[in-house]
Amino acid sequence: MKTPVDLEINNKWVRSYRGKRNKVDPEKPYAYLVEQERSPSGDIEQVATIFLTNKECPFQCLMCDLWKNTTSVSVSPGEIPRQIEWVLGKIPDVSTIKLYNSGNFFDTNAIPAIDYPSIAELLQGYKRVVIENHPRLINENTFKFLQLLKPELEIAMGLETAHPEVLKLLNKKMTLEDFKNAAGQLQQNAIGTRAFVLLRPPFLDESEGILWAKRSIDFAFEAGVRCVTVIPTRYGNGALDHLSTMGYFSPPHLSSLEEVLDYGIELNQGNVFADLWDIHLFSDCKKCLASRKERINEMNLHQSVLPRVSCTCN
Ligand code: SF4
Ligand SMILES: [Zn+2]
Repeated sequence: MKTPVDLEINNKWVRSYRGKRNKVDPEKPYAYLVEQERSPSGDIEQVATIFLTNKECPFQCLMCDLWKNTTSVSVSPGEIPRQIEWVLGKIPDVSTIKLYNSGNFFDTNAIPAIDYPSIAELLQGYKRVVIENHPRLINENTFKFLQLLKPELEIAMGLETAHPEVLKLLNKKMTLEDFKNAAGQLQQNAIGTRAFVLLRPPFLDESEGILWAKRSIDFAFEAGVRCVTVIPTRYGNGALDHLSTMGYFSPPHLSSLEEVLDYGIELNQGNVFADLWDIHLFSDCKKCLASRKERINEMNLHQSVLPRVSCTCN
């Protein structure tokens, strides 16, 4: 680990490297997509992800770029249900809905609690609902919403890394104990859990990045999580770009993501997915990128390790 010297990473520091927010409309989600994903029981499901427009997350994690599509003030009651309804009217039949709100579903400045009943009603015909939330914001609202919801609930939480010192530097304001407690609480209430794990966060070199991503997957499963998504750490939020000029951050290679995914799937403890968003950023080779992406996609869906793609680059 390369420990930063003379750097005090806090909200002010992280914010100081940010650019401008994108223009968003509180009546519309800023994006939505439909894709296939393997369910906890092993079926391949059609899943719609709705990227809700709402107020920025109160945490300012070092690597986060989700603030770009948020508002600076809370949306009005009724706007979140209207955003969901707008997407549901446009998409084909799906069984699972992900409501990703660039922050925490149970942050009432982001999603007004008064909207829970209308949100639950809109979702009642679906099999599963996935939302995202910080482990320290699992609270009474979680259980209020659970009471109202007919589909199965899954909560995705950022573990980011099981490396205690790096986790502290990520300004996530969470300890590994916080994560474990939250996952335990969800498990006791039969709420599914998913962990986001970063591959090669700042301050780690490539081999440490691989090692700690594997340890983070182990940690998540030991904490009772049933699904892990590995996310290669990317440039683009300002702070990471700055850390990169100081020698504290480089994005991981595609081959590292492949190694970590192979490891996670071989554990056979729950679904392990590799995030394919912007995957071209992690490989310089145009010859093999499409087939490697296809291999990862197949592995995400079928949870079995396929032979590596051979190419002159590796
Ligand atoms: S808690 Fe999640 S959404 Fe909020 S800043 Fe951290 S990574 Fe971003
Ligand atoms: Zn290649």
